[in-house]
Amino acid sequence: MKELIITNKILNWYDIHKRTLPWRKKTSSKKKQYYTLVSEFMLQQTQVATVIPYFNRFIKYIPNLEALAKFNDQKLIKLWEGLGYYSRVKNLKKTAQIVTKNFNKNLPDNLLDLKSLPGIGDYTASAIMAIAFNKPIIPLDGNIERVLKRYLYLKNENQIQKDNLVKQKIIFGTSIRASDYAQALMELGALICKPTNPYCEKCPISKKCKSFIKKDFALIKFKKDNKEKYFLLKVYKKDNKYLLVKNKNFNFLKNFNIFPMQELIKPKNFKKNLNFKMSNMNMNIKIQNDRMIKPMSFSYWIDPKKLKNYTLPTFTKKIVTYLENHR
Ligand code: SF4
Repeated sequence: MKELIITNKILNWYDIHKRTLPWRKKTSSKKKQYYTLVSEFMLQQTQVATVIPYFNRFIKYIPNLEALAKFNDQKLIKLWEGLGYYSRVKNLKKTAQIVTKNFNKNLPDNLLDLKSLPGIGDYTASAIMAIAFNKPIIPLDGNIERVLKRYLYLKNENQIQKDNLVKQKIIFGTSIRASDYAQALMELGALICKPTNPYCEKCPISKKCKSFIKKDFALIKFKKDNKEKYFLLKVYKKDNKYLLVKNKNFNFLKNFNIFPMQELIKPKNFKKNLNFKMSNMNMNIKIQNDRMIKPMSFSYWIDPKKLKNYTLPTFTKKIVTYLENHR
């Protein structure tokens, strides 16, 4: 009974306050599966507001799984350009190809098969099951985790371990409107139970929320170890053009065009020019102008004035902009 009350409160709130998002459009179940797949891949690591225009463009040019399976790689990267984490779009296409070939063009509606697809882990599989197939599963994304931690006042490291959160989410119960319910919980975290300054006065479940009762909303987080990495980046210039190479050496931005770089292990007197955060890496970059001695394989010259015309990762574009501003 308690679960039913909390479920209804959250769903009633959602029905009134949910955002209109392009992947929530009423459509056929096949399209819903495709929209859920694409939006969930885009939303990994990226905010909703950023994803919306990308999603709309993606769907306009690639309206379904079959089209995605055959879509030109270069054009696909261009559509994704600016979203970053390019392995997502590569996996998305591979997934479309496997689904088209092995699953009769339909996304599988079970966790095991979903998780066998490239780029789909526990969370994405659960989100697809709930949102696209209306299965009574609550996918634990960052938003739902936050609501759960605050609602139950989970404060110590053991309590916020993933295993425990998975057990504790039972408090939210289930609904026959499973797809709406999963999205309602996510929406509650995104719009009301915000990371800082939650809007408890607007929250449908504030009465029983332990954090609200205690007036303590601080969240305990595990510290992610950001690995410090050091790179020497070489700039070769000819006729006002920069040399890029196809990245075969590093696991990040694999096969993308980057400046020639070399990793340095524990360098002494390292003076960085630039700093980038990528995945769990803190990249310290020292720039060195160099002269070309012999041609490099998989290399290309790019004109910084035509930067927009190239399919390049944001990482490379930012370095070009830096070089142009520091000539
Ligand atoms: S009452 Fe406040 S802290 Fe509790 S779940 Fe709602 S928004 Fe979050």
